[in-house]
Amino acid sequence: MKSVRHETKNSEYVLYGIARNIFQAESTLNRRIAAAVSDLAPNHGRPPSQWQEQIGDIQRFEVAANSQEWQDVLKSLQTTLPQAKLCSLQRYQNKPMWNLFAATRENVRQALKREDVTKLLFHGTRQTSPDMIFQGGFDRNFGSAGMWGPGQYFAVNASYSHDYRHTRTDGKFQMFLAEVVTGDISVQHTPDSKLRMAPIRTFACTHGASCNQAVCRGQDRRFDSIEGYTAGSVIYILYRDNTSYPSYLLTYTV
Ligand SMILES: [Zn+2]
Repeated sequence: MKSVRHETKNSEYVLYGIARNIFQAESTLNRRIAAAVSDLAPNHGRPPSQWQEQIGDIQRFEVAANSQEWQDVLKSLQTTLPQAKLCSLQRYQNKPMWNLFAATRENVRQALKREDVTKLLFHGTRQTSPDMIFQGGFDRNFGSAGMWGPGQYFAVNASYSHDYRHTRTDGKFQMFLAEVVTGDISVQHTPDSKLRMAPIRTFACTHGASCNQAVCRGQDRRFDSIEGYTAGSVIYILYRDNTSYPSYLLTYTV
């Protein structure tokens, strides 16, 4: 059995028999998880109904300007950017990424015992090319800690993400509309840059505040996201991988 050792300053990982380096191992594990999940529940990973037949695992499609899909996105964009004009709308169909996202969504649905656990939210990538997101999904912002710590930030209002927009060389703007597993939401409208993950929701048992029974403590579960409020928009911050999917890339002018 092969083993690899990956060391960093603060932590150490040892992996046995998966792959030669940590990046290969991560990709191998992600593929195995996606395969296992689709075996267990073949329906929940089913892509959105508007997805078109595709060749290969990863493809993007231009959404027609006269479609309901286009109209829905445009309406959402213009709610807070009324002067915005949509130049093109691309639907991202990345099957491996979708499968990982769908697995996360399914876990949260089962934990919360409800289907409605996601929101469609805007996200600007600034200097990061949308192509990078198409291949690898949204990165947590480890480099510069945000107001609620290093997480992935998504906004209800397009006007908020417009401040974080990507600008193409031809001067047109781009931002994403993403499906995000907000799940069980911890509302913290006051910023806290020391946050590193969502807090744990303590299970409210009927035995009183001093209850320390294992069966009750075992019900504690971490919130899935934090809801913040800044620059006139409700925003959601996610701290774990595979909790968001870049459904659409919007190219627009204002
Ligand atoms: Zn109890």
